[in-house]
Amino acid sequence: VPELSVRVLARPHWEAAAAEEFLADSAQKWTRTPGATDAEELVEFAGRICYMSFGKRQSPRDNSQYIHNLIRQGHESVLEHANWTFLVAGVSRAFTHQLVRHRIGFSFSQLSQQYHDESDAMFVVPEIVNGRPELLTAWQGIVDQARNSYNLLLSRLIEAEPTLPAGLGDPREVTRAVRSAARSLLPNATETKIVVTANARALRHFFDVRGNIVGDLEMRRVSSELFKAVTKDASSLFADFEIVTLQDGFPAVIRKP
Ligand SMILES: Cc1cc2nc3c(=O)[nH]c(=O)nc-3n(C[C@H](O)[C@H](O)[C@H](O)COP(=O)(O)OP(=O)(O)OC[C@H]3O[C@@H](n4cnc5c(N)ncnc54)[C@H](O)[C@@H]3O)c2cc1C
Repeated sequence: VPELSVRVLARPHWEAAAAEEFLADSAQKWTRTPGATDAEELVEFAGRICYMSFGKRQSPRDNSQYIHNLIRQGHESVLEHANWTFLVAGVSRAFTHQLVRHRIGFSFSQLSQQYHDESDAMFVVPEIVNGRPELLTAWQGIVDQARNSYNLLLSRLIEAEPTLPAGLGDPREVTRAVRSAARSLLPNATETKIVVTANARALRHFFDVRGNIVGDLEMRRVSSELFKAVTKDASSLFADFEIVTLQDGFPAVIRKP
């Protein structure tokens, strides 16, 4: 049984010296907020460039107040400058099918079932099955059957390879055709790994629409892990969200009341 994991592969990093150099060249002074993170400073700086609100034009707001005000005004495009890259593993294909529907501000690189042999595929147990021994045994029997069917069809297709027309002479295309046919027998529970890059604005939208779908426990768990990771790096960009534990004992990401 694979464990859900969310790892941060890349996080916002900004070159404060480059910004300071630009300001010095422009005879501008920016009063920075001590303790603001790279992501938060990058967003603030990008916002200030819009109005050149430096020096006398800088209001007394600190970094978090400035970002709060950007969000309140709906000036959220500035948040797109902060990007994270995650490695999400131990999740089901059902989950990633929903995830990759997010088109704007997201990029994906996912384990291929055409290039990767899935003979040893693992399967993600739905939370409501987990912990109920009878249900779990039944579920395991069914996914084992699916894996056996995959392996059986794969070996039959490999035996039949010389007679298959799909490759048109290219062995890689024969393999693709064989694995494509075999994977048709794998269930939605099949475990997968996906690298996800997303910006803060896109993640905020994701938390809004996905973070608190009560019956979608896998989605809630991943949303919560993503939320924990990004708030560590840039709490001001997500200050209007929080994690709560719902009655079922699982987390959800909600808008603060
Ligand atoms: C509870 C729930 C149930 C769902 N059920 C189904 C279902 O049964 N079947 C199904 O197919 N999908 C379903 N979805 C997926 C849903 O329809 C979206 O595809 C998915 O949530 C991505 O959301 P999005 O389009 O807002 O995100 P993104 O693709 O990231 O887009 C972000 C925002 O950009 C704007 N935008 C993006 N593309 C366009 C465009 N082409 N034109 C104009 N504006 C655009 C919109 O404002 C959009 O909200 C469901 C989602 C949820 C949350």
